[in-house]
Amino acid sequence: MKVIYDAIIIGAGPAGSFCSYKMAKKGLKVLLVDASPTIKRKVCGEYLCPSGYQVLSEEGWGPTLDEMFLPINGMKIVSPEGTVLNTVFPKLSHQTKGLAVNRKSFDQFLVEKALEVGVTFLKDTRISSLDSTSIGWNVLDQKDNKFCARLVIGADGRNSFTAKKLKLSSKIDTSRIALHCHISSKDKNKRFGEMHLFNDGSYIGIDPIGNEETNFSLVCDSKRLGDFPNLHSLLNNYINSSSALKSSYGEIQESIKINTVAPITNSISNFTGKKFALIGDAAGFLDPLTGEGMYNALWTARSLSNQLASKGENSLFNFSAGIQNYARLKRRFFLQKSILNGIFQWVIKHPISSKILAKFLSKKQLRADIFVGIIGNIYRPLEGLYKLLRA
Ligand SMILES: Cc1cc2nc3c(=O)[nH]c(=O)nc-3n(C[C@H](O)[C@H](O)[C@H](O)COP(=O)(O)OP(=O)(O)OC[C@H]3O[C@@H](n4cnc5c(N)ncnc54)[C@H](O)[C@@H]3O)c2cc1C
Repeated sequence: MKVIYDAIIIGAGPAGSFCSYKMAKKGLKVLLVDASPTIKRKVCGEYLCPSGYQVLSEEGWGPTLDEMFLPINGMKIVSPEGTVLNTVFPKLSHQTKGLAVNRKSFDQFLVEKALEVGVTFLKDTRISSLDSTSIGWNVLDQKDNKFCARLVIGADGRNSFTAKKLKLSSKIDTSRIALHCHISSKDKNKRFGEMHLFNDGSYIGIDPIGNEETNFSLVCDSKRLGDFPNLHSLLNNYINSSSALKSSYGEIQESIKINTVAPITNSISNFTGKKFALIGDAAGFLDPLTGEGMYNALWTARSLSNQLASKGENSLFNFSAGIQNYARLKRRFFLQKSILNGIFQWVIKHPISSKILAKFLSKKQLRADIFVGIIGNIYRPLEGLYKLLRA
């Protein structure tokens, strides 16, 4: 007899794997599928912000993650006019640190956790068709294998097939592009991330992953690609314009592979329906400026699974009410984050405002630390702003 799953989750990135884990732990029957035959190292800054680490620590995984990955204790922020802020993440009742995660190992870890609690996982399974039925969905993969589930959860990332198939309109912003590479490490003991900001709104994020390598990402206007003969000269142009970058890293050699990613921003008006929900990047994503894509993936996964697993008065799961609650919570969460991200980008692009902000933050270490606490999601934006003004 054909198995009917409570949910099929499409995509085994952090959103899909964590959601499947949380749902299976609460007694739901979950099928997790991924198009890729192997778990790959994705293009990503690989910085898991303190709140992301906290979400996973609440599952009791802190010690294992600490063995697998090195900590990030704060951020060095270099303003467009060269002011350097060396910050540490503010301490709360729990330990506040981020992690530098190799994405292949991180994604693999989350899939293994899902398997441990009974999730069925199929790799090399690209979903190609979704058909609504009276009880849920008939779902087909590229080899015409058929799966039946009550719910479809789209966790299939930035170019979500699920969102396209369900005709969920999204606002894709192609004006910016990310260039990404790994370079060898110069300072092996440095446990701080770096954010170098430029007046044209571009920025370079740097994350010391291990003892051997450093993760390097540039986000800039996509039109800039036309100004340079190749990706290396574009990236090196930004490096050469910053004395801090030039002295610490030097030019990126031609032998180093640079990947590009676009779009890097996407907002989606509707990410839920009676029998489906989107999570992680599939449900919309912000410019990686504040480095919280993985946290967003984990947050949406946790929020949806909690809502789906809560039972009504008759002790039965009420998926449609759960999805509605998730939609409400996610809208509120995303709104705050996108306002913060937008303000931050606006400030960088306006020299007077970025100078004023850098001056204000550099006057007191506490202010700079609170600021990085807001970016690292340790404080909610409004709570952080209140603390910042009082510091
Ligand atoms: C340049 C750059 C730097 C970034 N830096 C950071 C950072 O430092 N910190 C941070 O937290 N975030 C960062 N992000 C964002 C982060 O990478 C994403 O937010 C995160 O990967 C989202 O996770 P996800 O699970 O939603 O999607 P993904 O990790 O993209 O997973 C989606 C999965 O779906 C699968 N899939 C797709 N289509 C199908 C299909 N039809 N059928 C089956 N499976 C399918 C894919 O194979 C994939 O495994 C960065 C992003 C960029 C572009």
